[in-house]
Formats: sequence, structure tokens, C-alpha cells
Amino acid sequence: MIMKDKIGLVMGMANEYSIAYGITKSLMSNGAKVMFTAQSDRFQQKIWNMEGFKSSKIYVCDVTDDCNIDEVFYSIKEEYDSIDFIVHSIAFSDKNELQGKYYNTSRKNFLNAMDISCFSLTKVCQYANSIMPNGGSIVTLTYYGSEKTVPNYNVMGVAKAALESSVRYLAADLGEFNIRINAVSAGPIKTLASSGVGEFSKVLEFEKNRSPLKRNITREEIGNACTFLLSDLASGITGEILHVDCGCNTVGIKF
Ligand code: NAD
Repeated sequence: MIMKDKIGLVMGMANEYSIAYGITKSLMSNGAKVMFTAQSDRFQQKIWNMEGFKSSKIYVCDVTDDCNIDEVFYSIKEEYDSIDFIVHSIAFSDKNELQGKYYNTSRKNFLNAMDISCFSLTKVCQYANSIMPNGGSIVTLTYYGSEKTVPNYNVMGVAKAALESSVRYLAADLGEFNIRINAVSAGPIKTLASSGVGEFSKVLEFEKNRSPLKRNITREEIGNACTFLLSDLASGITGEILHVDCGCNTVGIKF
């Protein structure tokens, strides 16, 4: 129960396959109270229809809309005064550009992918101090494609590199308020978002074979790592990128 008496916000749960679902389950089983943002009314309804979430507080928040984000954080502040953690589990790219050559990325999709997958975290952090006046912890999700090229990951890899750099700058900014921020670099896992990446099943297979643990990571394992980072057990950790990927990132070439 390392999250007992803690309350926080999970952004980016679309369905039971979402990484945010694994994180939420882990947070709740460790005693946390969780509220959500959903991209649209449709996603809000979907979450309410999921088992165990009927009475959950779910704000609709499209992160491309500043007014929408303002409203959500204003409402949370009004209702709860302060919270303890935020999970940012949001990314988007046009799936037509998650295949083929990276250089074919359009300006429009580049900017949109960066806006949703990277800037949204910075925008959320603008509210961190007012909504977590007693300190807190923030976690975002990234992927190895930020460090090395991964076929078809393309603009998402570039956005994740910017996201990881943002985590370091945000950690420097927020440290004086006792607010920590870290990223979990999750191994590949089948979700709505990842199914848009070309040949994703090949990535899953490749990563399984090269990982020291000889398997893919699970939603539960990613959830538990996030819970750790959001808990007081990680009180000295900020600005870090924690790989939770069965060791995939540690292995170069292996015969
Ligand atoms: P998912 O599709 O379940 O979640 C993505 C979420 O982003 C959805 O809930 C969607 O509604 C939300 N979103 C997209 N555009 C939005 C907008 N404009 N406003 C608000 N919300 C918006 O997929 P997932 O794989 O669970 O993705 C969660 C995070 O994990 C993403 O950052 C993703 O890049 C990262 N990640 C995924 C994998 C993987 O293999 N699935 C690996 C490493 C990191």
C-alpha cells in the first residue's frame, strides 16, 4: 500500500489495453485514489463502461486545446485543493507516417505529434506547482525509439527524444517545489497507439528474442514501475529515464 492516502490524475487511458490501465490498476491496488482525463466524450464514456470505473471522476481533455487544459486543472484545484501525482500517458502521430522513410514526415504531422506527445507534458507542468503545493511526482511514458532508430517509429522517436529532454528540464524547474518528474521507457506492448506503428508485431517479436528475460514486458510491470516512481519510495529520483523493458535496451548485438 505504498500509495495509501495519495490521490492523483491519470491522463491517457483509452481502454483495457492502454499502458495507463496497467498503471491505474497498480496505483489503485497500492491504495491510491485515481481520477482521469479522457481525450473526448467518447473515451470518457468508454472508461465509464469499463469494469470498476463507473463512478470514477473523468474530465474530458484534448491536450491540443489550452482552454480545455486550463478548465480541467481549474476544476481539479476547485474540487480537491491538492493532489499528489500525475501520469502523462499520451502520444499521437498520423499512422500513415509511422511507416516508410522518416524524411517523408509532413510538417503538419511533425508539429501535431510534437504538440500532443511532447508539449502537452510541459503544458501540464505549468499547473504542477498550484495543484501539488505540498510536492508531488509526475511520470510520463517514452520508448527506446528516442535513443536508437526503430523501423517505422519515425516522427514518434523524434518526439520521444524531445519528451525525454523535457523531463530533464522540467525536473530542474520543479525540484525547488519538491515536485519530481521521471519517464518510464516501456518495452513494446500491443495497444491502440502502438497498433498504428508499421510492422509492430515484428518489433514485439524482435524485442522478445533479444531481451535478457526472453519475453515482452507486461502492462502490470510498467504499472508497478510507475507506481514506484510516483511513491515516496522514489523520493530521491527525478529527471530520470527508467527502462522497463525486460532489459532490451541493454543488449546490443548478441550471438
Ligand atoms: P493508448 O492508445 O492506449 O494511449 C494513448 C492515449 O493518448 C489515448 O488514451 C489517447 O486518447 C491519448 N491521446 C492522443 N491524442 C490525444 C489528445 N489530443 N488529447 C488527449 N489525449 C490524447 O496507447 P499506449 O501505448 O498505452 O500509449 C500510452 C503512452 O505510452 C504513449 O506515450 C506511448 O507513446 C507510450 N509508450 C507505448 C509503448 C507501446 O509499445 N505501446 C511503448 C513505450 C511507450
